[in-house]
Amino acid sequence: MNQSANLLSIINQVKAWEAEIVRDLQNLVRIESVTYNEGKAVNFLADRMREFGYDEVRVDAVGNVLGRIGCGKTVILYDAHIDTVDLGDPDGWKFPPLSATIENQILYGRGAVDDKSCLIGIAYAGRILKELALTDDFTLWISGSISEEDVEGSCVSAMMQENSDIKPDYILVAEASQGRIMRGHKGRALIRISVPGKCAHASAAWRGDNALVKALPIIKKIDEYEDFTDDAFLGKGTIEVTNVECKAPSLNTIPGEAIITCDRRISCGETERDLIEEARSFCEGIDGVKVEIDSEVVKTYTGYEIVCKDYFPSWVMEEDSPIVQAGIQAYRALFEKEPEVTKWDFCTNATHLCGRMGIPAIGFGAGDEPLCHTTDDQVPLPELFKAIQFYSALPLFLAAK
Ligand SMILES: [Zn+2]
Repeated sequence: MNQSANLLSIINQVKAWEAEIVRDLQNLVRIESVTYNEGKAVNFLADRMREFGYDEVRVDAVGNVLGRIGCGKTVILYDAHIDTVDLGDPDGWKFPPLSATIENQILYGRGAVDDKSCLIGIAYAGRILKELALTDDFTLWISGSISEEDVEGSCVSAMMQENSDIKPDYILVAEASQGRIMRGHKGRALIRISVPGKCAHASAAWRGDNALVKALPIIKKIDEYEDFTDDAFLGKGTIEVTNVECKAPSLNTIPGEAIITCDRRISCGETERDLIEEARSFCEGIDGVKVEIDSEVVKTYTGYEIVCKDYFPSWVMEEDSPIVQAGIQAYRALFEKEPEVTKWDFCTNATHLCGRMGIPAIGFGAGDEPLCHTTDDQVPLPELFKAIQFYSALPLFLAAK
């Protein structure tokens, strides 16, 4: 069969399964899967992948679900996360957040746009390619990864370690993109600046050394800082003070330590060392200040512990790279128009898969990014059907690269 016949059969198969796709998405949204409690949703998806006739389905020690179709030469990994943020203010919702109500072809509910429609979408792409026997030239892995909302990149990092037999040539991160092809996003880091002092009773402050007062000029310098690298595609980085924690045994004691936390958005080519050096420059002239990238230990629903360093690098794929070109070709062939190729404003699992591991990646998904995490969480179903067409077509173009 030639490519246009393949694409036509993909389009027809999506159409034939529309009702089933919607039912699966509703069922998945109805299973609450707030970060660190994804077990039920993972089992649901693993069962569906088996029913879809996947060649292999596994749930790894971390708790991620992975399904494979085909065993061809080009290895592709599609990732979407299965966790959601919490349900939010119950009064803010038009329909209850776990009801997965549909009105005017829009499905409402927590996770509808972020990221369960994309997840069902990539799972169906696997099913469609298997059904149509189009898998000769590639191996397609579909992952429903956990804990993205809290520590993006960290659980897929553990996933890639635990499944070291999977060596993708290409990655697609399925997250809301309004049907645009994403070829990069900024990274982020949490910088922790500890300013030392000496506790003393506030009535006799001269006996101590007020760490909060010492922290003030540092905060001012951070606020005024503008000397960021400017990248033509990603733009400039940013730094914002997001928290100041004072260590003192009571409110009538001057603090013996002040810990400033900053959110740093990372443009191109800025390493951990660059960020540390930049932060040290804010502290010149103040002795004993400690600057580090924050880190934390998280435990997944399976009890698996991951040390997460809060440094998530940026990633960019050039417009003429084979994966971006394959995405553009698949889009054109399906929809007979030019895609918009741009960048995400938020951080995704591509920070690890592409930013750290260096595997070529693109992003694509249905729905509007600004609705993520809000009580307006929703996805237009026609957009989801189109995304499934794209997910199903892309491997055919990647395998030809
Ligand atoms: Zn997401």
